[in-house]
Amino acid sequence: MNGGCFCGAVTFKINIPTLWCSHCHCNMCQRSHGAGVVTWVGCNDDSVEIDDGKSKLRWFKSSSEAERGFCSNCGSPLFFRSSRWPGELHIARALVSGELDREPSNHSFYDTHVDWMSLADQLPGKNA
Ligand SMILES: [Zn+2]
Ligand SMILES: [Zn+2]
Repeated sequence: MNGGCFCGAVTFKINIPTLWCSHCHCNMCQRSHGAGVVTWVGCNDDSVEIDDGKSKLRWFKSSSEAERGFCSNCGSPLFFRSSRWPGELHIARALVSGELDREPSNHSFYDTHVDWMSLADQLPGKNA
């Protein structure tokens, strides 16, 4: 599967299978994406090929253990990696073109969800 940032300067290819897909409601995702919820796809980092031929990918250290990759041309937040999940690269689901090998399966960090958006799915995690 393929994807990339809004302007197309940073693209990636995911060799399936992916590991998981989850809606994240944590405060850091909300603020770094400017969104109520961010849906992530977890991948083995060696199953993702990143093409940054224009050298636009930058990494912002968002906490002591994590960093977030974004396109310095268009600003799209693309990637997340953390020592809490060694060997994994998390990719913003909305940047993957078309279907994935899995659908989102749960909600994470729902205790900090925004109250101005309701999600009617029946996935686990919303009563956490
Ligand atoms: Zn871009
Ligand atoms: Zn998050």
